This record gives sequence, structure tokens and C-alpha cells, in this order.
Amino acid sequence: MSEREIMNVIGKKSEPTLEDQELAKEVNDREPCPYGICNGSGLIRKEGSTTAEQCKCLVEQIMEQKLKNSNINLKYLGKGFDYYDNKTKFQLFIPKEKPGPIDGRLRDPKNEKVEKFIERHYDIKEDERSLKKVLFSYAETNNGLLDEKEDGVNLLLFGDPANGKTSFAIAIGLYFLEKNKSVYFTTTQNLIDKVFDNKEEVARISREVDVLILDELFNEYHSSNGLYAQKRLMEILKVREELGLITVCTSNGNPRDFNLLYGESFMSLINGTFFMFRLERETDARVEQMLKNYDKFNF
Ligand SMILES: [Zn+2]
Repeated sequence: MSEREIMNVIGKKSEPTLEDQELAKEVNDREPCPYGICNGSGLIRKEGSTTAEQCKCLVEQIMEQKLKNSNINLKYLGKGFDYYDNKTKFQLFIPKEKPGPIDGRLRDPKNEKVEKFIERHYDIKEDERSLKKVLFSYAETNNGLLDEKEDGVNLLLFGDPANGKTSFAIAIGLYFLEKNKSVYFTTTQNLIDKVFDNKEEVARISREVDVLILDELFNEYHSSNGLYAQKRLMEILKVREELGLITVCTSNGNPRDFNLLYGESFMSLINGTFFMFRLERETDARVEQMLKNYDKFNF
């Protein structure tokens, strides 16, 4: 044993150092470590090291605060991509540079079937990879672009209700929070409502948040101020586009309905700045969750 090692052993058994006493004082004000890893300070100081590492408990505490700041429900804490199964399938919609002609026998474009409209406007690409893998790669590439001060690319997840759109959008948000980017989650309707009573807040969210998650795009259209909402939404998306910031949207709507209600300039913005994924799930995710509750309650 070297002299230094001996001193370490002696040091440990003798009086605590002033630094240790300080640390112990802080610890008394905190909860004990839920994992029993650190001494409650949230920091782990390795023997002989001058720097401290963050304990799992502190990392989680920081993440919890980040979720609060991002307006993300705490039930999503820890639910990154890995949390989800592979039951949600997806198709990538690639806009055609020149959409095919509409069926001449249709008197009103409103009568065109959704699938017909999609066929005219998009090439559909299937991908063998799992959705979570593809979205992880989307988030990773975008994060790299943000780091390089390059423009990120937006994402629209659309499809039937309860197929996991919001959960995956939030998993993307959590990824960016881990990378120390700013994220804000809101329903589109809530953001538009905010334009009325808190313009500055909307301006801040539009211009400063690295990743804005707009849930339930298209629902706002059915509110009493549909046209007003559409205009404000366009403004927000355009500002973010100019600044190269990322917007992730979810919607129960489909491209034909977007086109009919929002019009061509909006669709041009969507087609020109968003990756479009249609999500499909054989089973209803909410019903799946409810079935678990039947078990939990022994019904
Ligand atoms: Zn700890």
C-alpha cells in the first residue's frame, strides 16, 4: 500500500472534512436518494476524483423540471421511444412535384375520395424499419442540424385517433430535452387561444422554442374562429420556418381535408417544409390501455 493510499484510508476514518460537512448539510434538506445510489445530494463523487457525477435521481429531477417548463404532462416522464411497442405502422407521404389531374367527372372537389386525392398528390413510401427507430433517427438528424445552426425539418404525424401520434410526438420532445434543447407542447387550439390573451407568450414560443409540438392540428379549424385560427397558425409556422426552428404536428385529419379547409398556400407550406407520416395501428391504443385497467381493477 502506498503512503497515499494509507492516508486515504486514515482520512476516511478520521473526522469528516469541511467539504463533507457542507455536503452533509445540503443533504439534510433533500429527500434521500430513491435509488440508494447517492447520499441524497444527487451527486456522486468518485474516490480520488475532483469532479462529481450526477446521480440517476438528480438526472430525473432535472428532467421532471424540464417537462414542467415544456408544458408536457409528467405522466410522460421516462417515456422515450423505447417505451413504445412496434404495433404502430406508418407510411411516408412524399408530395408529387406535379399532382395528377382531378377526375373530370367530379363536379365538386369535395366529392373526391380521400384515397384518390392522396394518390394524385403523394407517392407513398413504406419503410421496413420500426416507427420508433425512424422517429429516433429523425430527431437525431434534426438535433445535429440545430447544433450546426442549420434549418431543421418539420414533421406531421397524422391518421386515425388513438394510434399513438401524441405519444410519439412527445417522445421526440423528450429526446430534444435530453439534448438540452427547448421544447414546448401545446394543442393548436390552446396556442391560438393564447394569441388573444398573451401575444408576447405566443411570440416567445414561436420565435425561441427549438422544438414546438402542436397537437391536434386541424381541430382548431372547427372552432368558431376557424379562419382567424388558420391565419395565426400560418404566421406561426412561417416565422418558425424562417428561423429554421422545428415544429412537430399531430392531426386526426388527412391531406384532402387539409387542402379543402386550409387551402393551397397552407398545403404548400406543409408539403414544402414537413415530413408527412400517416400512422396506422390495428388496435386502438386507448382501448388497449383500458383493457389493462380491467385487469388492474379485477373486473
Ligand atoms: Zn441519488
